[in-house]
Amino acid sequence: MEGDWIDVSVPLRTGMVHWPDNPSVSIERMLDIERGDVANVSKLSMGVHTGTHMDAPIHFFRMGRGIDTMPLSATIGRACVIEIRDPESIKPEELRPHRIQGGERVLFKTRNSARCWQTDDFVEDFVYISQEAARYLAVQRVQTIGVDYLSVGGLFKDGVETHHALLEAGIWLIEGLNLSHVEPGAYELICLPLKIEDADGAPARAILRAVKLTAK
Ligand SMILES: [Zn+2]
Repeated sequence: MEGDWIDVSVPLRTGMVHWPDNPSVSIERMLDIERGDVANVSKLSMGVHTGTHMDAPIHFFRMGRGIDTMPLSATIGRACVIEIRDPESIKPEELRPHRIQGGERVLFKTRNSARCWQTDDFVEDFVYISQEAARYLAVQRVQTIGVDYLSVGGLFKDGVETHHALLEAGIWLIEGLNLSHVEPGAYELICLPLKIEDADGAPARAILRAVKLTAK
């Protein structure tokens, strides 16, 4: 009763969008068959908070855990895609009716998905999780949260506060999803960040498959 897997990751390529003060992305052929080498070998240079990626507690806390310590169950299993209509930020008032439960994996589809990935320029007014909503999600004891642009918090507002509230609560964060081809509803999620020792974040591949709830 399942559909096909949907890739909700963003492709990595030279010159793609990144957070304003983060390193740019460069993917360069260091060995090249065209130049007489026996194989093509590329060098990848990028910040770990670019494209589809995950945040670890050490991103904002000096003694926090690295991404390599994330339990695999945080990002493999049932997840719920919630559509957010607010064009500015995710607020508790919009979340409450969804009755988010403890242990849930929740992915927020905002207008970012259709709007922000169209350009290599950083979109400053992306929809983010307000610090009030972050505290609400922390109280609900959500397991994992996914957002559809480069940060759970805003550029001008709630950047540090939102990260602190979520990471302090032990919530694992997926950032940089593209949910434009995903309808709200129940899914199976697989998202695996690269196993980089003690890293504050890591690029990840994320895929979803719809779960058809059969009525009995
Ligand atoms: Zn982040």
